[in-house]
Amino acid sequence: MNFSLIFSLYSWRHNAYIFMISVDDALSLIVNTISSKGIEEVALIDALGSVLATDLITPINMPPFRQSAMDGYALRLNGNVEYNLIEEAKAGDSKKIALKPGDAIRIFTGALVPDDADTVVIQEHVVKRETKIEVKKLPEKAANIRPMGEQVKIGETVLKKGTVLNEAAIGFIAGLGITAIKVFKKPSVAILATGNELQEPGTELKLGCIYESNAIMLTAALRRVGIDQVKIYKAKDDYTETKEAIKTALDKVDVLLISGGISVGDYDFVKDALTENNVEEIFYKVNQKPGKPLYFGKKENKTVFALPGNPASSLTCFYVYVLTALRRMMGYEQFELERGKAKITSTLNNPTGKTLLLKAIIKDEKATVLTGQASSMLNTYAISNALVYIPKEIKTVNEGDEVEYLNLVF
Ligand code: AMP
Ligand code: MG
Repeated sequence: MNFSLIFSLYSWRHNAYIFMISVDDALSLIVNTISSKGIEEVALIDALGSVLATDLITPINMPPFRQSAMDGYALRLNGNVEYNLIEEAKAGDSKKIALKPGDAIRIFTGALVPDDADTVVIQEHVVKRETKIEVKKLPEKAANIRPMGEQVKIGETVLKKGTVLNEAAIGFIAGLGITAIKVFKKPSVAILATGNELQEPGTELKLGCIYESNAIMLTAALRRVGIDQVKIYKAKDDYTETKEAIKTALDKVDVLLISGGISVGDYDFVKDALTENNVEEIFYKVNQKPGKPLYFGKKENKTVFALPGNPASSLTCFYVYVLTALRRMMGYEQFELERGKAKITSTLNNPTGKTLLLKAIIKDEKATVLTGQASSMLNTYAISNALVYIPKEIKTVNEGDEVEYLNLVF
């Protein structure tokens, strides 16, 4: 980020009611303000969803020895079809078996192939006659043998720093005999849901109230990035209660996500309560729809996002901004959601001058923007797999135009 951008962002912050920061500038500020949380060694099973902090070098060959890939017979091909059956090797046997020319052994998948054998014939192609076998179909030399180090060789870098560890990676690393690895630390996160109207699901709904759903939605979204331990706090629309809840939560975690109370209503106390807690505002209000009243701030090395209470706005702000911040902390090299391009299936107008983030379904390279874009509506979000991204400068997109989208399948 250059100085003029920093200066203009500074001006924006101090004229927050006149200017709104753009989506791109908001993202740059997040990426430039946040850094990774450092490195820790964790047990392999706890590394799921973490990012490798060093190149991973294998201490063994994989496979560690010449291994039979099939159930069958190991022999040295000599052009003949008849071989003497001398022994048996099953998975886990360590015995070194010597073969004379014309000898074969019974062998099973995963077993050590004798040094003297060059081929495994699958059992379906062999007829066994007491101490002899007859090969009905001769394979290519070296067939059905996995050479030592075929997959990876000892000392090789097998996974690069920056790799996001999925189930396959966990299994692969375990197969190399490794039990603990160095990963980037994951941040600890708390959610504070604010609002007088919020009731616990499972209770009888009082008139004027709604079920609180943002805390569980955000908890679920956090689980998808591998953050499993999330503390949840609640506060009424009350300045003191909000201030105290922020203080308690901020003491305990690296990242605080606040839901609701960040708009301009008389009962929106979050912004003032953050200031009172010495949280420094980095930006407030983004020129986007939905999710305009988004707040991003820092207190020392702690990060605060105050998200709009409307559930769809809240989730969109999570995907676009919070996820980016968390991935940056977690050492991801790709912080933001991946973008793609597709042809839009309907014409739409954007008279707002805001960047639009529209719930959509991408299928067969076509983008269908769903009806029901209101920031309160999660029913359409529930079936979306993307957010179509219409930049603020674009006034109209016509059916068939190519549009950019953020991929929600990650
Ligand atoms: P606010 O941002 O607090 O002004 O809230 C905007 C809208 O979102 C209101 O209709 C709230 O009732 C609703 N809302 C706020 N918080 C939640 C929540 N945790 N779960 C579901 N809806 C909420
Ligand atoms: Mg509220």
